[in-house]
Amino acid sequence: MRAVRMTAPGVLEQVEVATPTAGPGEVLLRVGAVGACHSDLHILDAPAGTFPTPITLGHEIAGTVDQVGAGVTGWSAGDRAAVYGIIGCGRCRACLRGLENQCRVVPVGGVGLSRDGGLADQVAVPASRLLRIGDMDLTQAAPLTDAGLTPYHAIELARPKLRPGTTCVVIGIGGLGHMAVQILVATTAVRIIAVDTSVAALDLASRMGAHEVVQAGPDSVDKIRALVGPPPDGADVVLDFVGADPTLTTARQVVATGGRLLLVGLAGGTLPVRPVADEPPTVPLETSVEVPFWGTRAELQEVIALARLGQLHADVQAFPLDQAPEAYELLRRGEIHGRAVIVP
Ligand SMILES: [Zn+2]
Ligand SMILES: [Zn+2]
Repeated sequence: MRAVRMTAPGVLEQVEVATPTAGPGEVLLRVGAVGACHSDLHILDAPAGTFPTPITLGHEIAGTVDQVGAGVTGWSAGDRAAVYGIIGCGRCRACLRGLENQCRVVPVGGVGLSRDGGLADQVAVPASRLLRIGDMDLTQAAPLTDAGLTPYHAIELARPKLRPGTTCVVIGIGGLGHMAVQILVATTAVRIIAVDTSVAALDLASRMGAHEVVQAGPDSVDKIRALVGPPPDGADVVLDFVGADPTLTTARQVVATGGRLLLVGLAGGTLPVRPVADEPPTVPLETSVEVPFWGTRAELQEVIALARLGQLHADVQAFPLDQAPEAYELLRRGEIHGRAVIVP
């Protein structure tokens, strides 16, 4: 079968590989769609040895069951499913609470991260990773598993602060940010301020229900402050889906006293935290900073429910498998709007 693999650090190419079989407890899925994620670029750019090579990338997968392995019950050929990408140890304190995204044993492990992923005609995954999607379009279902789940999890963490009438600033309206806006619209009554450098991304945010849009630049903080008022007031919650120095600076300078900063993007910026009383603190008093990671299986089920109710829709740009490397190049250059989805 065809597979798009990282054959060496930084090298992504389409190759022919043997079709996998479903081992005990596993299911062989015919891949219907795979989302192209910024994390894949971080995997490609990581130093040698950080991730195994060769490895088939793709951790945002939806497909149809082809074959079930020994011991699998509840799934049969023809069933349609989305894949929860994380594979925790299943036994530690966090996993036992359903928080496999906080597994204390397995360092960031999962489909397309520590074992072959979905950028291929078929992929074998543990049956425990599958969630039912009904008759949903597979190109819509795939992005739910990360581009939908990750912002949903961050919003769940911040939910106590997302009271009716409060303000949430969403920085970065890409694959995750445009889903975040819709999740906020569907599950809260907050005022949403979308921030991005791209006018097209801001148009997308408006279509998805953002109440205000701010084009990012040197005056980002002033523009957002004009909407949320001066300190110690400000945005109750800030979701940063970029995580670069300029966005982290904006985030900490617009959040309210007692607010919450959720740093989701992995662009490698630094957030200084310096508690001081005699000058403006780097982060307001009583403000918490969190670094959410992906989400839980239970949350993915809720994300799928939102989509099936018509309240969450990925803005998708589809590419055939042999154009996957080009799709990642466009993603790297910031030329994808919404989510790029590879359709084998
Ligand atoms: Zn991802
Ligand atoms: Zn664990």
